[in-house]
Amino acid sequence: MQVERADPGIADFPSAAAPEFSAPETLEQVYTRIFRRLRPRTPLPEIRIEFRRYANANAQVRLQDGALLVKVADTLAGAPAPVLEALAEILLCKLFRRPVPPESNDRYRRHLNRRDVRRSLDLVRQIRGRKRVEGPQGARFHLHELFEELNFRYFHGLMARPVLGWSPYASRTILGHYDPSHNAIVLSRVLDKQNAPRLAVEYVLFHEMLHLRYPVEHTGVRRRVHTRAFKDAEKQFEGLAEARRLLRSL
Ligand SMILES: [Zn+2]
Repeated sequence: MQVERADPGIADFPSAAAPEFSAPETLEQVYTRIFRRLRPRTPLPEIRIEFRRYANANAQVRLQDGALLVKVADTLAGAPAPVLEALAEILLCKLFRRPVPPESNDRYRRHLNRRDVRRSLDLVRQIRGRKRVEGPQGARFHLHELFEELNFRYFHGLMARPVLGWSPYASRTILGHYDPSHNAIVLSRVLDKQNAPRLAVEYVLFHEMLHLRYPVEHTGVRRRVHTRAFKDAEKQFEGLAEARRLLRSL
């Protein structure tokens, strides 16, 4: 059982994924390059790429009125440039009924199978699915109360309250999640059940509050979700070892 999570990686394309010293190729340029290679004699259409709020990691492409329309789930917006290029290759090959290069397929699938990516997709699905995040009032705990207590105890009461809610589903693999794009902390409903010890619930909420306090760091293509400062701050939690033990037995 872990409190691990990853944010859905929204809205930091493309600069965060590209080295700082070279001007990154735009996604339009990537599609142009691949289009030219696959269809060297066809006049280049206008290329329009949109990131859409899909519940899943989906993408589609079509040619319409002389324009190439590409729609990609915004959950992929923060994906590394080589992954987005692999996706471009897959979409255009499918559009022109050409075999997809296996290495592009592999690269795209490996990305989707990464543990953190899978988890954040699960969460996005929960958040955006038909059943939305439910309010802060649970059967046992009111998240506003827990938040203000922790805020007072560990943050001098200075942290602005984000959107707080219980997940509609009692997920055991994702206990908590901070979604920066919605400024929302969502706790799994499993933590609102009778047998959930308060200390464990507080710890999960505290962990997510630290994500608010210490944002993800990007160095080149690396993302550091739990920074050194984050980990140091986490050690301040009273009863940390006990809370972790309780979570494991939950
Ligand atoms: Zn975390």
